[in-house]
This record gives sequence, C-alpha cells and structure tokens, in this order.
Amino acid sequence: LVSRENHPQRSTVTVRGVPIGPDTVTLIAGPCAVETPEQTLEAALMAKAAGATLLRGGAYKPRTSPYAFQGLGEKGLRILADVREQTGLPIVTEVVDAHDVALVASYADMLQVGTRNAQNFALLQAVGAAGKPVMLKRGMTATIEEWLMAAEYVAQRGNLDIVLCERGIRTYEPATRNTLDISAVPIVQRLSHLPVIVDPSHSGGRRDLVLPLSRAAVAVGADGLIVDVHPHPEQALCDGPQALVNGDLDDLATVMRDFPPLLGRT
Ligand code: PEP
Repeated sequence: LVSRENHPQRSTVTVRGVPIGPDTVTLIAGPCAVETPEQTLEAALMAKAAGATLLRGGAYKPRTSPYAFQGLGEKGLRILADVREQTGLPIVTEVVDAHDVALVASYADMLQVGTRNAQNFALLQAVGAAGKPVMLKRGMTATIEEWLMAAEYVAQRGNLDIVLCERGIRTYEPATRNTLDISAVPIVQRLSHLPVIVDPSHSGGRRDLVLPLSRAAVAVGADGLIVDVHPHPEQALCDGPQALVNGDLDDLATVMRDFPPLLGRT
C-alpha cells in the first residue's frame, strides 16, 4: 500500500489544510513537551515566527527513565487545543498507548508515533483506524524495510495519510544522540509514495547541530522538518539541550525560505 510500485506519483498529506508533500517544505515546530500554557504558547509563537505551519508538542512522553517527566496527559492536550485556538496552528502530538488513541485523536490534527513505538503493531493499527493523519517516526534500530512495513500496518487499516519521519538511528558514534541517516530520505522517497520529513532535533540531540542538519535535510529533498523550540531551554522538563531558542530562529526561517527549488523531489 505504501510502495511506489503501484502508486508512482508521490503523495501529499494534508493536516487541517496544511500540505506535507513534494510541492513544499513544511516546518513543524514547538516544544518537545507541553509543560505549561505559557511555555506552550510562547514556543508556538516562536515556531510561527520561524515559518512553522504546524505545532508539535508532546502531552504523553515516552521517556527512557520512568523517573523522568512523563508529560501532562489530557491536561497537555487541552493546552495544545487552546494554543491552536490562539495561534491557528494545527497540532501534531504523540500517542504512546493504543488505549489512548481515541482520546488523543479527539484533540490532535495529526497523530505521532514515536521511535520507541515504531513497531508496536497494536498501536499502529489503532492509529490507522483513528481517521487522522499519522506521522510515523523511524524506529531507532529499524531498517528502512522495517520502517516501511510499520507504515504498512497503518495503511492496512485504511489510512494512507502517513508522513514518514527520519529521526536518526543508533550507531556506535556517541558524539550525537543518534546518527541522522540522511540517505534514507531519497531512498525512502524512491521506494514509497509517502512524504518524508526529518527531525534534526532528536537526531543530533544538540542545538548546535539543528541548523546544519536542517540544511542537509532540505538539500536532499526532505518534504519537511520537525524541530524542537523552547522559550527557556535551561528550564525545559524534556530535551532542553536540543531546543532552538529565539536567537536561532531567523536562521531556521532562512533555511526554510531558501530551500532548493524542488530538485529531485518528484
Ligand atoms: C518526540 O518527537 O517528541 C520524540 C520523543 O521523538 P522520538 O520518538 O523520535 O525520540
């Protein structure tokens, strides 16, 4: 279903009127985690000023440590809905448990499946049946074939509104949190008709790498970026070291504005 063999034209997925696909480069930005109404609104305004047309923000956080901040749950979803109301930015947010899909889908405009759940087949099937566009991150140890098969689980439930997100894979290199597999972008675009975006924040795990990795992603033809921003990253409850701050946003806006004109993106 997701292969390009039977569907040669690359697809565009529309999230509440915002297209993600071969004719544009879409910026999704916002806080890693929803912490407070003020922090979420501030981050959303930063994101919008940088050119974002979709707001990201986690209300359910799949953390490595059970002692780390796990997200605000439904309260976080309500904050996101309020911020959508105030900014007009549709919401992309993660769902981590098949039992929560209906609840999260009642607030979200796009459901995110994270790297840790990328082969949670019950969750993939549940999001496939939820009637909302899905952003499927690559599992941190998944091959491209495994990633596409995960997308197939969503598609099998009748939902082809799937955006694939390369977010870095585990390698032996500790200088970055994950290694951005930049070649995956054109490879997957050749294999699948689905849009492919890049997460330069979770790939590198370092603020200083977000802009270079964003440029690389756009240069190889990614259909969009998903970027963490935070008004006060030193106080962030989740992944502060990778969040862009106000001073970085003009540069991000420039990356978005100057993207190479669609060379090799068909
Ligand atoms: C996220 O985008 O909030 C996130 C946790 O990303 P990943 O699943 O790629 O680690």
